[in-house]
Amino acid sequence: MTYRVIPVAPFDYVVFGGTGDLARRKLLPALYRRLRDGQIVGGSRIVGVSRREMSDAEYRAMTLEALREFLDPNEANDSDIRSFLDLLFHVQVDVESDLGWDRLAALLEEGADKIRAFYLAVGPDLFEEICRRAGEHGLATAKTRVVIEKPVGSDLKSARKVNEAVGSVFAEDQIFRIDHYLGKETVQNLMVLRFGNVLYEPLWNSAHIDHVQITVAETLGVGSRGGYYDDAGALRDMVQNHILQLLCLVAMEPPDSFDAGAIRDEKLKVLKALKPIANGDAQACTVRGQYRAGAANGGAVAGYAEETGVEASGTETFVALKAEISNWRWANVPFYLRTGKRLPARVSEIVISFKAIPHSIFPDDAGAIHANRLVLRLQPDEAVQQWIMIKDPGPGGMRVRYVPLDMSFAEAFQVRSPDAYERLLLDVIRGNQTLFMRRDEVEAAWKWIDPIREAWDRSGAPPKPYTAGSWGPSAAIALIERDGRTWHED
Ligand code: NAP
Repeated sequence: MTYRVIPVAPFDYVVFGGTGDLARRKLLPALYRRLRDGQIVGGSRIVGVSRREMSDAEYRAMTLEALREFLDPNEANDSDIRSFLDLLFHVQVDVESDLGWDRLAALLEEGADKIRAFYLAVGPDLFEEICRRAGEHGLATAKTRVVIEKPVGSDLKSARKVNEAVGSVFAEDQIFRIDHYLGKETVQNLMVLRFGNVLYEPLWNSAHIDHVQITVAETLGVGSRGGYYDDAGALRDMVQNHILQLLCLVAMEPPDSFDAGAIRDEKLKVLKALKPIANGDAQACTVRGQYRAGAANGGAVAGYAEETGVEASGTETFVALKAEISNWRWANVPFYLRTGKRLPARVSEIVISFKAIPHSIFPDDAGAIHANRLVLRLQPDEAVQQWIMIKDPGPGGMRVRYVPLDMSFAEAFQVRSPDAYERLLLDVIRGNQTLFMRRDEVEAAWKWIDPIREAWDRSGAPPKPYTAGSWGPSAAIALIERDGRTWHED
């Protein structure tokens, strides 16, 4: 089966940081795939911007190398690659000075009637400057959209400052705050499962759901991101954006349409209903950890301090939280959230754990009856599984078995699951903000996160150590087991 591809009108995509890791690893391969599928047609241009002096030919050669490195061999086709490279240009601009802006303006002037997107694939400290200078050089036209990468700020105050600065040049409907988790098929499937079926919604509340778990686990350590990471930590790097966005999609009320405004309004209500965690609560509802040397990815690995060279760092590489949503639908349904580096598996998943049956009619020797679970896996492979009880097939008395009903149809339909960036990059051109974060969402998320961070700072206690390759400090297991529950494992 093939999927429907609707071509987009020709556009100019300007990637600030067009020679960086994100551009080479994700953005350029994603745009190539959209061209190969026929969604990008002639007349579009992709303009890489960076400080280094580089001709268009050199930029094309760099991109070819990146495509060879990051595409599967069966995705690379000579004629599509040639067509893609023809779209590429490079302009040398130092966004912190006036160098190069006039050249960029002259190039873009040639396509002034097209939709224009500025993708800011540079450090967040440059967002304000790029927007300001783009405005000063007349580049922020009504047809221009700007994409900003996370993190938007490092707390409420700094997020407001970034939002003010970007917002003083671009209107809110021109600003696309990207969280690539929202571009994942499974995340969008969550909305279809909930709102395209009658089966789930009547059960989607505290009467039938016992609790929810959201896990984003990585096997890697901080690696070369140590400098950035030591200022951020897992709470800011993962929970404030990816995990809270997933929580919102699980917990939101049905919006009245699939309109960006309607969905974002409902997500915002969830963020505002999150029960604050501060001081005394932080002790009981949060666990933070930092990995020590151990084993991961099949070999011995160093601890966080040795990897970053920062002795006695108070930065958490693991966090587990018990969150609660104060509204009718979710009263007394805990949302257990956890994320960390150097964990035993690379897995991102949402687990909706339904309540146990009220009474079993089966004999004791039939086997244990487990509560139903809906598992939405985002990584490493996208999958949706509904765990149910069935009769163990065959003769010989009544025995029951807990099995997953597999609802991952990509394989059955023989459709490649697109990379999240493929969808999101072209949503920007289409002007569709459904899967991007609105300013008030980002700020509401920080409003909930900041008191946790402040409570940790006030306590002065260091993060709890955990061995690389384990599931975090034992306190994270105690956090959920105290409530008579366990973390989900396949
Ligand atoms: P990177 O590899 O360090 O690349 C930075 C890019 O910005 C380079 O192309 C660099 O080229 C350019 N640049 C730096 N200063 C500049 C200036 N003053 N004027 C013009 N260009 C400048 O960084 P990255 O990993 O791609 O990350 C970029 C952003 O995306 C960061 O905000 C990061 O947090 C975010 N992000 C990255 C990833 C990822 O997978 N890498 C994932 C999610 C979010 P020159 O040195 O030639 O100027």
